[in-house]
Amino acid sequence: MTERIPGFNTLAIHAGAQPDPTTGARATPIYQTTSFVFDDVDHAASLFGLQTFGNIYTRIGNPTNAVLEERVAALEGGTAGLAVASGHAAQVLVMQALMVPGDEFVASKKLYGGSINQFNHAFKSFGWNVVWADPDDIGTFERAITPKTKAIFIESIANPGGVITDIEAISNIARRAGVPLIVDNTLATPYLCKPFEHGADIVVHSLTKFLGGHGNSIGGMIVDGGTFNWSREGRYPMLSEPRPEYQGIVLHETFGNFAFAIACRVLGLRDIGPALSPFNAFMILTGIETLPLRMQRHCDNAQAVTEWLSTHNKVAWVSYPGLPGDRYHNLAKKYVPKGAGAVFTFGLKGGYDSGVKLVSNVKLFSHLANIGDTRSLIIHPASTTHRQLSDAQKVQAGAGPDVVRLSIGLEDKDDIIADLDQALSL
Ligand SMILES: *Cc1c(COP(=O)(O)O)cnc(C)c1O
Repeated sequence: MTERIPGFNTLAIHAGAQPDPTTGARATPIYQTTSFVFDDVDHAASLFGLQTFGNIYTRIGNPTNAVLEERVAALEGGTAGLAVASGHAAQVLVMQALMVPGDEFVASKKLYGGSINQFNHAFKSFGWNVVWADPDDIGTFERAITPKTKAIFIESIANPGGVITDIEAISNIARRAGVPLIVDNTLATPYLCKPFEHGADIVVHSLTKFLGGHGNSIGGMIVDGGTFNWSREGRYPMLSEPRPEYQGIVLHETFGNFAFAIACRVLGLRDIGPALSPFNAFMILTGIETLPLRMQRHCDNAQAVTEWLSTHNKVAWVSYPGLPGDRYHNLAKKYVPKGAGAVFTFGLKGGYDSGVKLVSNVKLFSHLANIGDTRSLIIHPASTTHRQLSDAQKVQAGAGPDVVRLSIGLEDKDDIIADLDQALSL
């Protein structure tokens, strides 16, 4: 008998987990411990030498976090995962495994604002140089490649503007350049889009958003697609050359199609240290159990709200790929057929003052700088997150004075619409 491959809903609940072998506990326990006792000296030596898998110290790995890693890797269709303290920490560890000072990577300029800051400032201070490309003009990615390029970085659905990136077209460019394609899949989650099926090599997540889904825990994840040949041309020495700190082990040789996840753990997480708390892993695991139900409701609500907004007389435009006529509608049909996510922007005819008035008048919506909560969220970027930019820079960043960003929650859609309706009418 061939073994059934479980469906997405089943994996969201069961992947990586089993009843606790000691107590029978059915929910994954929170292993709130810093360290794990060795069987004996030989066992300790083999753990430290990477000859045996097992627990040493929670900075390097933890059994609660391991369930989360296996679950997200299963949902994405990757070979292995690595849970870390935040989405930004995941991005640091991925790049640290790929880059040496003076190297370059090409990134879409339509990204979460925090990532744009991280790449422009922190990464530059490490000597990792970002070269920006435009996902609306795919040729800019090809032209940005140089002999120093070590990776391409994009988002599947880009935060905040409802941009759908053509993953396959960009993966072809990465393939020709011999570099891995990294996809930040935070806004889509694997329920809506599986980047590995479209040619991605590495997926990163902010678990803080829809995967955790309840606005209560920060976390990040790296998923190894197992697809990239790290040994070709010796361009990735962290993976293809003997590691002095592990008795000369070559990670790609020893760990094959999950060598990248191992490198991020035993070189990056071990030495840089952004470990995820097992308590946060537990909260996020619990969130993931209902991911398919939540994501569908998020999308259905967002679709209804955007349709309503686009007919409102105070609204100038709505940017949501689920709307027919949206410039990303065809890409949405290909990459996110079940729905275009729940984060989008729209413009108010009344400009800056109307944006400020709207965020002051809403009652059900929370005015804050997060997305992917059960609760509906609103922000007016020009008066908050993008306040320090000039007007021209604001417009360039998709945060012009008239722009409002919403993250649609799981409340009744009629209540969400009623709240916007009363706030817009004041
Ligand atoms: C929030 C976010 C991040 C950063 O994640 P943190 O968990 O806040 O560090 C990265 N990418 C996207 C698309 C995000 O929305």
